[in-house]
Amino acid sequence: MAQVNRSGRSKVVVVGAGFGGLSVMKTLGNKSVDVLLVDRNNYHGFWPLLYQVATGGLDSASIAYPIRGLIRPYKNVDFQLGNVTGVDYANKKLIVENSDPIDYDYLVFAAGSAQFYFGNDALAEKTFSMKDVDEAEQIRNQVLTAFEKANHESDPQKRKALMTIAIVGGGPTGVELAGAYAELISHDFRKDFPNLDMKEASVVMIEAMATILLPFSTPGKTEANDLQRSVQSTLEKKGVKIMLSKPVKAVEDGAVLFNDGDTLPAETVIWAAGVRGALLGDKIDIKLQRGARVPVNEFLQLEDHPEVFVIGDMAYLEGFKWGDRTMAYPMLAQVAIQMGKQAAQNIIVLASGSSGGGLTKFSYYDKGSMAVVGRGAAIVTASKPVKIKLGQNALTKIPAWMMWLGVHVMFLEGWRNRWVSIFNWTWNTFNKDRGTRVLTGTRDAKTQKMEISN
Ligand SMILES: Cc1cc2nc3c(=O)[nH]c(=O)nc-3n(C[C@H](O)[C@H](O)[C@H](O)COP(=O)(O)OP(=O)(O)OC[C@H]3O[C@@H](n4cnc5c(N)ncnc54)[C@H](O)[C@@H]3O)c2cc1C
Repeated sequence: MAQVNRSGRSKVVVVGAGFGGLSVMKTLGNKSVDVLLVDRNNYHGFWPLLYQVATGGLDSASIAYPIRGLIRPYKNVDFQLGNVTGVDYANKKLIVENSDPIDYDYLVFAAGSAQFYFGNDALAEKTFSMKDVDEAEQIRNQVLTAFEKANHESDPQKRKALMTIAIVGGGPTGVELAGAYAELISHDFRKDFPNLDMKEASVVMIEAMATILLPFSTPGKTEANDLQRSVQSTLEKKGVKIMLSKPVKAVEDGAVLFNDGDTLPAETVIWAAGVRGALLGDKIDIKLQRGARVPVNEFLQLEDHPEVFVIGDMAYLEGFKWGDRTMAYPMLAQVAIQMGKQAAQNIIVLASGSSGGGLTKFSYYDKGSMAVVGRGAAIVTASKPVKIKLGQNALTKIPAWMMWLGVHVMFLEGWRNRWVSIFNWTWNTFNKDRGTRVLTGTRDAKTQKMEISN
């Protein structure tokens, strides 16, 4: 049975409680519309810190916040746990797995992104991806299990493969993972596994292009700039092996196979090479744009359904300036947050009775980008000159790391999460100890059988 909007006010349904969805919710909070947030998770995830969960730096509860806690200050907001599988535009109903359809007056799709395998979906089965808390925990479990197995593996080749972590993709996520794993091995595992020779361990970052960190490259230039070179040398000093211009052809059990015929034995292969719009985009009857993203007009609406908005990673809207090129807005938290605010403001205009006049076009204020390269090193770029500047509106090393820490703490939801993260990072910085090296999910709780084989 379809739900009835008892208040008689417009009902706004928001799919996804990520950066974009929460921004819609906060802008509409305590306004004269009813809001229902729908998410397949009961938490909002702070994805920029997922790599910390995968590398034993933070526990998952520190980067996730219960949605019901976030909606508490707003009397007009409710939450429904559910996996959205489609939409019936004609009858204004959202289709949710194992649930009645949900009526809406206005709908916002903010379902984020998914991993992309460049048409080679076999890679999905053989590699680990890191798009949510469950996946980050799986990677952490995999790495911890591989080193436990290596500890009693007598065959040197098998042992080396168990002690090799291959990261495909030299973007910000690949860089963050590589730096943190290099530290995990050289500081923590060296003490945890005294019987293993850590010279046999390796962290390998594989990139198909000639440089790492493409989003930080200089427009129109193919060669690495100072910032990219600085990150590459910091990673190499930490012990990361970087393979450039090495497209991956396939991944088999225990090895990465390259286009040029080379092979890298590795039991842990993490895919951080491609991203596309959320899989939900395939089910909403819209012809998708580049990157499997949903095309929207400048007010963030679907062209044929002005009561439906799409924002954040899922949305395709051109207008982002990069050198002399104009491209689609990138998949970044700030884009999703700013789109969420704009979509909500436009919904308020429509809900107040406007037939479309008075809507505001989306415009993006670029606050810059940052990536961390392990303890004490990061890079930050700003689109406008910054006060403390180094190079071209850019900071590197410790000043950038301090700024990275400050920004991430500020944007984390909840004071508990902020304090726990600050404590963990301080502890880790002074003691070189990544505290959450815990292996979970090794046994079936009912049968007590080991689920991870020896
Ligand atoms: C590992 C990683 C690191 C990142 N680092 C940075 C960074 O340093 N800086 C930066 O700016 N950006 C970073 N990003 C990108 C940033 O997180 C995204 O741009 C941002 O989260 C997009 O916001 P969104 O609201 O569009 O989607 P999300 O924040 O991803 O939220 C989508 C929500 O939709 C829900 N959902 C998805 N499908 C369904 C469905 N079918 N039914 C119900 N609910 C659904 C999900 O559970 C999720 O809660 C990173 C992303 C990842 C994965």
